[in-house]
Amino acid sequence: MAFELPSLPYSHDALEPHIDTRTMEIHHGKHHAGYTSKLNAAVAGTELEGKSIEEILSSGTLSAGIRNNGGGFYNHCMFWEVMSPNGGGAPTGDLATAINAAFGSLDAFKETFSNAAATRFGSGWAWLCVKDGKLSVCSTANQDNPIMKGVSCEGTPIMGIDVWEHAYYLNYQNRRPDYINAFFNVVNWEKVAANFTKAI
Ligand code: MN
Repeated sequence: MAFELPSLPYSHDALEPHIDTRTMEIHHGKHHAGYTSKLNAAVAGTELEGKSIEEILSSGTLSAGIRNNGGGFYNHCMFWEVMSPNGGGAPTGDLATAINAAFGSLDAFKETFSNAAATRFGSGWAWLCVKDGKLSVCSTANQDNPIMKGVSCEGTPIMGIDVWEHAYYLNYQNRRPDYINAFFNVVNWEKVAANFTKAI
């Protein structure tokens, strides 16, 4: 069964003013749609056809087409889910405890995550990951992610931010740090907490 572009869990304008409508339309409807169709074309007729995206991405050496488009498919599926028009604020429960244990405070976590996102040169992603029950932050180039073999990030990603220019340039131009700050106003901490619970 082919991969399908998931519907956004909110309307294109729901994340305004933090993420603008036009960016959401193009990002989901063009970029994510493109990764999805190209992933399907890349796995068609190969031994990876029919496997889950997690199985594919963790399977070892990937062709450029599967690495870039499979990563793009997976990463954006997570990205839409970890944002919400009702997001922002602070995490609670076990996730809050784990953030405090790993980083000292929510503000210290935000600084570490923002720094990873801001200093990723060129296109890529910053991640909050779980490994052996502990949280860590890292970043990857292009559409790579921590579940791929051989990337410098390790663990199960539970939150990611897209820092490709297509994610912010219409509204923020070169001001990537402003976009990263805005992201924290729409973080869906309930979803991140659910991802955390699944990953530990
Ligand atoms: Mn993107």
